[in-house]
Amino acid sequence: MKFIVDFNSGKLVNWLRMMGYDSALFTGGDDSRMVKIALNEGRTILTRDNQVMTFGVVTGGRVKAVYIKSEDPETQIKQVVEVLHLDTRSGLFSLCMECNRPLQGRTKEQVTGRVPPHVFQTQEQYFECPSCQRIYWKGTHWENMMHKLEKIEKQ
Ligand SMILES: [Zn+2]
Repeated sequence: MKFIVDFNSGKLVNWLRMMGYDSALFTGGDDSRMVKIALNEGRTILTRDNQVMTFGVVTGGRVKAVYIKSEDPETQIKQVVEVLHLDTRSGLFSLCMECNRPLQGRTKEQVTGRVPPHVFQTQEQYFECPSCQRIYWKGTHWENMMHKLEKIEKQ
């Protein structure tokens, strides 16, 4: 499942990419453009704009769209996970949070000199984005998001 996330619920992009779901951010403009992208690329729309829900391709079922009820990002991702029965675990750490591109595994040797020394000493597993060359590891930021995710799922 792929997504196009309306800017009015844009924080969902981070959560979805973390879970490994290909997610494009729609940065605003004409609703019909977003619906067209969703139709062309087979993306599910996530939006807080209920006008989008009235488009013919949406009511007719050709484009799937979820109306996001809450303004709170954690409540939003909870809604999306529940409504669409998303797998929150198996795709973890497979996409770049910035570029939405698949990450590639890297050995410790391959990232020598490219990560801070304290990270290099404590982490064994790395991932690199082939597009922006950003290196990822399961550090504090990742742990924080995992804790939030666990908390959200328990609610
Ligand atoms: Zn990247």
